[in-house]
Amino acid sequence: MSNSGILRSHSPNFDNRTLPISLLVMHYTGMKTGKEALERLCDEKSKVSSHYLVFENGEIHQLVPENKRAWHAGISSWKGEKDINSCSIGIEIVNGGHNYLDADGKIPEYKNDQLKAVIALSKRIINQHGKLEFLGHSDIAPSRKKDPGEHFPWEYMASEGLGKWPLIKSDDRRALFELNDRDRGVSIVQTGLAKLGYSACVTGVMDQSTVDIIFAIQRRYRQDQVDGILDIMTMEIIKSLLEI
Ligand SMILES: [Zn+2]
Repeated sequence: MSNSGILRSHSPNFDNRTLPISLLVMHYTGMKTGKEALERLCDEKSKVSSHYLVFENGEIHQLVPENKRAWHAGISSWKGEKDINSCSIGIEIVNGGHNYLDADGKIPEYKNDQLKAVIALSKRIINQHGKLEFLGHSDIAPSRKKDPGEHFPWEYMASEGLGKWPLIKSDDRRALFELNDRDRGVSIVQTGLAKLGYSACVTGVMDQSTVDIIFAIQRRYRQDQVDGILDIMTMEIIKSLLEI
């Protein structure tokens, strides 16, 4: 894709980066329409923005120059870094998400043209900036955010070289640890989650923040059951991710 295929809109909601770019972060807009999202992301009063906004028909708008620090991540953390806005490029994808369900009560699907545009844009960005980690907002802010949601096709993205995909050998959903369980095994899992990049503290207790990270892992890698319970299959997914 050439840059000329990208439309320009201007958001005033950015400042200067203090870190090199190392992450590419996916979001859904969680609003009723793309038009409303574009207006909000460009409204000085909203104090939010992203570098790109991808509409359902695949139309891409650039709102903030890549060398500037767009305000898309909020309070977040990855691999110990908390100023995610400084080290990332943010892509907002028009989708109502958990806030605006379909007529049949489901989270609205992403559109094919839209996903193709996200893939082409992401590949172009990675070609330009070198290898960036491909993440969701829920990975960097698991206690606050659900986007891009358990309907975002992470496996398809991984098949295009965008993000990791674990080798999933088990479909065993028997629970290992739930909220408030205390066990040495919980410490081991927390150590693994922190190694992956999640903001896990090694406490040996399945505290709420650890459960939130389990939700984020399932939202991305085990989308048919997102319950925050650390079961055998989820444990296998974490183990496999650590080996990639
Ligand atoms: Zn977001």
